[in-house]
Amino acid sequence: LASAPRPDRIGSAAFVPGELTRGDLPLAQHIDGPVSAPVMIATGSRPGPTLWVQAAVHGGEVGGTLGLARFLERVELSTMAGAVIGILAANPLAFQAQARNTPQDGENMNRVFPGSLSGTITRQMARRLFETARTTADMVVDLHSGGAEATVPFYTLYWDDGSPASAAARALAVSAGTATVWAARDEWLSGALIVQLTRSGTPALIVESGGGAALEDGEIESFASAIESIARAGGLLPGSPGSAREPTMIGSCDLVFTKEGGFFVPRCRPGQIVEGGERIGEVVDVFGQVRERISSGKRAFVAALGRPYLPVHSGAMIAELNDIVSHGGA
Ligand SMILES: [Zn+2]
Repeated sequence: LASAPRPDRIGSAAFVPGELTRGDLPLAQHIDGPVSAPVMIATGSRPGPTLWVQAAVHGGEVGGTLGLARFLERVELSTMAGAVIGILAANPLAFQAQARNTPQDGENMNRVFPGSLSGTITRQMARRLFETARTTADMVVDLHSGGAEATVPFYTLYWDDGSPASAAARALAVSAGTATVWAARDEWLSGALIVQLTRSGTPALIVESGGGAALEDGEIESFASAIESIARAGGLLPGSPGSAREPTMIGSCDLVFTKEGGFFVPRCRPGQIVEGGERIGEVVDVFGQVRERISSGKRAFVAALGRPYLPVHSGAMIAELNDIVSHGGA
């Protein structure tokens, strides 16, 4: 991957060879002043590629924020080439509210990329993030989780459009060390940062882990180790990526919604493979009665599942069920 010419800072954080710096990147204006994303930059002692890693584009998904900070604090800069730009809270308004969407306009930032400087505040922030990443990074990683309502297994996702950027993103996604990789073509993802970047020629991928309004240290470590493996595969760190196994490849995703209201009771696990007709969960009403039994319409990989006893109304999204393209090996 070629090294892009790069500015000497991102917002107020500078690239200083051999040092980890901190600052903030203004993305919009609030009533009382700038809305800024916290930024850390780890710069290696030698020139090399620039890796952009961002977390909390969905504000409640803090596992990525903590994993990114952990990676940046422990990376050995004397052996690193290039730089890692870490955006610790890519949607600062949603992060402050600990909400998935921006409270000011209700928008999901990861559905509005590449954004617009004449749109809602979410779209203006998205535009500045997109342009800064596109013009400074050779590769981009976006960290996500199931957030407060769902739990996801540890997996990576790239946009599978056959382009050179997509092929490079696939190689990075496989290098991350997850058991599962989603080669996505689902049109509902078209406003995601990674899709818009891949279409503009920058390899980009998502790393997902955990959620369900809980966070274990192992999930933070999963994010940190995935970033490290991607940095090795991208040529920033010495050594080969850790993964020796062939991941299970998944594709087309069905979103599953409730019809009834009450509480969602899972009957399978995130990361499990379910057969066609197999029960994935139930909706129990406030009187304790089972109102709805939800089954998978196909053999599928459970890429996201509502957390136990999630309060739901009709039309609440409670699962993502993906086609299995190929099974991985040891
Ligand atoms: Zn997310």
